[in-house]
Amino acid sequence: MPSLSFPSFPLVEATYTSLPNSFFQVTKPTPVTSPEVLFWNDALALEFQFSHWKKQEEATARFFSGSILPEGIEPFAQAYAGHQFGHFTMLGDGRTIVMGEFKNKNGERFDFQWKGSGRTKYSRNGDGRATISAMVREYIMSEAMAGLRIPTTRSLAVVKTGEAVLREDPQEGAVLTRVAKSHIRVGTFEYAYQALSLEELEALFLYTARRHAPDVLNTENPALAFLEFVMRRQVSLITNWMRVGFIHGVMNTDNMSIAGETIDYGPCAFMNGFSAKRVFSSIDVNGRYAFSNQVGIAQWNLACLTNSLLPLLDPNQETAIALAKTKLNELESWFHESYIRMLGEKIGFPNLTEKDLLLLQSLYQWMQDTEADFTNTFLVLEGVYSPKDTIYNDIRWKDWVKLWKEEKTKQGIRDEDAISLMQKTNPSFVPRNHLVEMALANVHQGNTSVVDQFIERSLSPYKREIGYDYGDEVPMGGDANYQTFCGT
Ligand code: AMP
Ligand code: MG
Repeated sequence: MPSLSFPSFPLVEATYTSLPNSFFQVTKPTPVTSPEVLFWNDALALEFQFSHWKKQEEATARFFSGSILPEGIEPFAQAYAGHQFGHFTMLGDGRTIVMGEFKNKNGERFDFQWKGSGRTKYSRNGDGRATISAMVREYIMSEAMAGLRIPTTRSLAVVKTGEAVLREDPQEGAVLTRVAKSHIRVGTFEYAYQALSLEELEALFLYTARRHAPDVLNTENPALAFLEFVMRRQVSLITNWMRVGFIHGVMNTDNMSIAGETIDYGPCAFMNGFSAKRVFSSIDVNGRYAFSNQVGIAQWNLACLTNSLLPLLDPNQETAIALAKTKLNELESWFHESYIRMLGEKIGFPNLTEKDLLLLQSLYQWMQDTEADFTNTFLVLEGVYSPKDTIYNDIRWKDWVKLWKEEKTKQGIRDEDAISLMQKTNPSFVPRNHLVEMALANVHQGNTSVVDQFIERSLSPYKREIGYDYGDEVPMGGDANYQTFCGT
């Protein structure tokens, strides 16, 4: 391997490998022949003292494609399992390798991971690689999510490998650097519970609690407090997805982060025309992960986590089960409260009552019947957008707006307060499918500037400005036939 001098390298650690070795495989990425940096996230680099690293430098391309490693770095792939579409399977990092953990400027620890960096012992029949389209799509979507201020893994770099990846047709390969609070998933706990010893499950619990929720260790029942911590993070996360019309697409338990970040940008998409049943993923034929199912699926996944923590909740199984049931019931009420609060905020009501829910239901029913644009409808309501779409001349819409105004007055909500709440709640920009596709097509033609502009726009998705795009260019017929894909 050629010698190459690296710019100053921040301190890298790998505390995860202090766990029993059943949790990981120490391994290295497979070098690529001619790496070239396509995208480099300067703002994120700065947060992690990678500011000396430049997009054009050879070291950046070599390191972030996993082709050359500096001294002192000991990468590893993680073992996990998961329920995929309801079926339990042994999994693991088949095409990702954690390079190590770096601290940001606030001293918070993050995993940095290559995605698409070659095979590991968990690869099964996969090639361990990823396509440019999939990695740039992850870059766009994850940075848009960060812009929306919704917890998410981030993307530091996308490096073209110069090598072909065989899918249905040969495609160009790329390696993405994913930055996450950690990559510990619900599926990591399922793996420990199903395949390892009680001591190993305990070790995972202690490690994860220390890393993400150290306070739980000072409570009477640390495992129960930890469970509540994870549940509350997920309640907040999924409520946020429902707020902005995000459909994750593959909410398997291995794709649910313990730290509560949006993770695994495979077949995800933002919805244009509203439908509670909206699905974009090509493999989700039964609509398991449809838009409105996400709250229920999150509860299902958290029940899997609860089950895996049973031995730690109480040595007596019956007591443990009773504690688990109580927590799962509480979870349902937390979701309900959080969801209702969010719905109220979307229409400018700070304290939505159960009675007001009827108002919301009729709005959502109207959106469902007309497939009104999910993002634009709330901007029309706020009065900042006058779309060409004739559905807003519909008598049902006009009647509903009248009711909404009356109810607002009745409850003594001042217009300016309602508007300021709506401005904070409803984005004016989401990465719409046709725009993402256009950006990707440009990348394939060698033009990366469209993605850069897109990312720039994603940084201020709540801004209201004349000339801002809203959904003006949504293609006729919306995106009903749009399809997204998993393992690309
Ligand atoms: P995902 O659908 O991305 O959540 O992946 C599910 C599982 O398949 C994980 O264990 C991945 O590591 C693995 N996987 C996905 N794509 C590949 C690939 N190209 N090569 C090896 N493993 C893969
Ligand atoms: Mg996954």
